[in-house]
Amino acid sequence: MSHARPPSRLPSAELIRRFDANGPRYTSYPTAMQFTPAHGAAEHAAAARRSAAAIGAPLSLYVHVPFCESPCFYCGCNRIISRDHALGDVYGGRLIREAALQAALLPGRPIIEQLHFGGGTPTFLSIAQLERLLDGLDTHFHLSRDAGREFSIEIDPRSVTPATLAELARLGFNRASFGIQDFDVAVQDAVNRRQTYAEVAAVIEAARAAGFGSLSADLIYGLPKQHPDSFTRTIDQVIALRPDRISTYSYAHVPERFKAQRQIRIEDLPDSETKLALLNLSIERLLAAGYRYIGMDHFALPQDELARAQRNGSLQRNFQGYATRAGLDLIGLGVSAISSIGDSYGQNARSLAEWNAAIDAGRLPVDRGLRLDAEDRLRRDVIAALMCEGRLRYAEIEALHEIDFAQHFAAELARLQTMADDGLVLIDDAGITVTPTGRYLLRAIAMPFDAYLPVAASGSATAVTPRYSRLI
Ligand code: SF4
Repeated sequence: MSHARPPSRLPSAELIRRFDANGPRYTSYPTAMQFTPAHGAAEHAAAARRSAAAIGAPLSLYVHVPFCESPCFYCGCNRIISRDHALGDVYGGRLIREAALQAALLPGRPIIEQLHFGGGTPTFLSIAQLERLLDGLDTHFHLSRDAGREFSIEIDPRSVTPATLAELARLGFNRASFGIQDFDVAVQDAVNRRQTYAEVAAVIEAARAAGFGSLSADLIYGLPKQHPDSFTRTIDQVIALRPDRISTYSYAHVPERFKAQRQIRIEDLPDSETKLALLNLSIERLLAAGYRYIGMDHFALPQDELARAQRNGSLQRNFQGYATRAGLDLIGLGVSAISSIGDSYGQNARSLAEWNAAIDAGRLPVDRGLRLDAEDRLRRDVIAALMCEGRLRYAEIEALHEIDFAQHFAAELARLQTMADDGLVLIDDAGITVTPTGRYLLRAIAMPFDAYLPVAASGSATAVTPRYSRLI
């Protein structure tokens, strides 16, 4: 077995073992774990009425399509397995009714500058179903036609042909992400997801030809039957396709939580040393191929807008990972979708039956959420600065939140000192700077500022359950 030698900035195996705790990915702070039924539809509606969109600001819209034709065994998503594509008609109809309920909270037809279709498999819907859905959304919201709009869709390459991509572009989509995971046939068989390199290459080329502005490819390391030699081939094949962004997610095996994962044989999973080698070789090859490390498993070509946003300090974190624009308020449509409006998070019912029942009764399906208090907002800004900019200036946070940083966060700074001793952060009188090595352990650096995590006897923040993925 050939183990790639990590580049010098990569944390050592010993550092990863010590600091890569189970922890949130901080696509939001506080995380969805803190949502409560006490903050439901009425509280969400109140947040919408006092939002920036209520006085004409543009919005971001997320549409969740939960259906997939077959289960990938590694999957931890909220999805429904079915081959009955007529489901898409009924579901799409309800999404339009939900859009009407949400839009009724706001005056006029709010303009949508960012649109994201996620799942599940958004391309489970046919082009005709997607077209009806977009037309319906456009009657309640105004879907931007501006060239600067960001309309993205997650694509399962098995569910589309090259011709589909031209159709998606005609419907207005201009960003796409492709689920690849691994091209090795043994791995694909072990996770029940067969797709050839030729098929994926053809749809990515078609997307490019159709004018999609940014293409993204998702890989997973730590899957059954993966080993460094074959994963090297997969990485090199993906690099040859030259997507603008590449994400390499760590597989978290939690079969007691995710039923599909019980199909994975534990003896097929790579051990932690092999998993570390998979991580190292992917980082090393992507950097050597000219990709920049953005943070939290995300890489981008230097000219991609994500890399540019990182350089000019406008990088953001949202439920899809990293984004390029200052947070527009987000409305989530569909089962389990999350809205983020001002200081309020609201999540839709997580079961299809409950979501259906709410829509059919003409009720907003939001059934849990959270209103951030001043302390939550302060910590959200601190965590966002560390995860997106890789640095935090005390003066900026103090001016925004009227605190004395050193005093307010004395315990957190003391905990961070261990990471400073290990070269993951620099702490001085002006603020905290994440080092190039520390950028690979961002969540560990953010976790001391998470007020909802218990603090271990060692003094470091720790998560109580293995529900979060780790690097290795
Ligand atoms: S990984 Fe994606 S395509 Fe596979 S079952 Fe999960 S949501 Fe569906």
